[in-house]
Amino acid sequence: MSKIKVARPVVELDGDEMARIVWRFIRDRLVLPYLDVDLKYFDLGIQNRDATRDRVTVDAAEAVGEHGVGVKCPTVTPDEARVEEFGLRAMYRPPGDTVREVLGGGAVFREPVVMGNVPRRVPGWTRPVVVGRHAFGDQYRATDLKVPGPGTLTMTFTPQDGSDPVELEVYEFPGPGVALSMYNLDRSVRDFARASFRYGLAHGYPVYLATKNTVLKRYDGRFKDVFQEVFDAEFRADYDAAGLTYGHRLVEDMAASVLKGEGGCVWACKNYDGDVQSGAVAGGFGSPGLSTDVLVPPDGRTLLAEPAHGTVTRHYRRHQQGRSTSTNPVASVLAWTRALAHRGALDGTPEVTGFARALWEVCVETVESGRMTRDLAELISPDHPWLTTEQFLDVLDTAVQKRTL
Ligand code: NAD
Repeated sequence: MSKIKVARPVVELDGDEMARIVWRFIRDRLVLPYLDVDLKYFDLGIQNRDATRDRVTVDAAEAVGEHGVGVKCPTVTPDEARVEEFGLRAMYRPPGDTVREVLGGGAVFREPVVMGNVPRRVPGWTRPVVVGRHAFGDQYRATDLKVPGPGTLTMTFTPQDGSDPVELEVYEFPGPGVALSMYNLDRSVRDFARASFRYGLAHGYPVYLATKNTVLKRYDGRFKDVFQEVFDAEFRADYDAAGLTYGHRLVEDMAASVLKGEGGCVWACKNYDGDVQSGAVAGGFGSPGLSTDVLVPPDGRTLLAEPAHGTVTRHYRRHQQGRSTSTNPVASVLAWTRALAHRGALDGTPEVTGFARALWEVCVETVESGRMTRDLAELISPDHPWLTTEQFLDVLDTAVQKRTL
């Protein structure tokens, strides 16, 4: 059987623990036997991050920017316990944060998977709710302050052109408390709007931006205005032609209507709201093994896909003791197929996109035929049969072989 030629490289960011074991199987047994692909490999496993003083993370992110397509395995974020466990020389930053920073922020779309036979914790959700998270600014770049006692908090903006500064009194503190100053950029909000509208158009979903513009009239009002400007100038005609819509909603109305609805929309969130709602949506769809994050940096061309879950340390500990595990690889398979489909789209190679679609369909058909890992089986019923990590991966392997024959 001849392999499908992938015209340009895909950047692979390897990770840690149980996720790394599942990852290797997917790459070696489900992808490489079928694709002739130049994988630019970067080992972001914690030991190699330590050995390279985290340089490998920056190098990997730059490679994703250069080649336009990346796929990332979950990685350990060091805390005190991990520093001790691995004898690390530093408490390195979460790799995802470094990668996003190198790629200039952008937006992260969390995509849950709907399996017909696996009940959702929110039963009405029969289609994905895609949370688009603005990956720049706000609380994540804020300056915060513990106020020691009574005093006045002011905010000053000093224009570069030498014109008069703008000074605002924020609060007259009667006693100790806390304060925060945060910001965002029109340019970044505009990129976020474009990424959200492109995503909606590509997947056939309406787009909603949710803010609290009734309270933050200037801050959130700016998000609302920029989204509307970008939509009117660049996307309205395409949305009309596709029968899709865009609208702004108050964040509490949006939260309520998403819970009442059937899914099938892109919910564009400011950075912190996106953090919260991504978690809520992943939880609502049942298992962490069913959600994938797609990072779309501001260049509008690059894409980095990764499972939304972590390294599944609890299962890895069992694995280290020689005990069986049941780790769901679905989100990792989706990350690979999203990245490969994007490679095919950028290169104009429909056979690569077709392979990605076929691999994904095999994965969904396998679960929908009743063969699955324990996290999904438990959502169906306490006594639904389930497979171990290796058994499920073997079933997938056989199914992919049959499909491509
Ligand atoms: P986790 O997502 O790895 O696991 C939490 C629990 O969710 C597991 O114990 C398991 O019950 C369940 N679970 C998660 N993924 C599953 C899967 N594929 N199949 C079946 N069950 C699954 O989160 P954690 O335990 O809080 O973190 C473990 C490590 O992962 C930490 O070191 C953390 O820093 C890291 N982490 C990395 C990322 C990332 O790289 N994007 C994200 C989150 C956590």
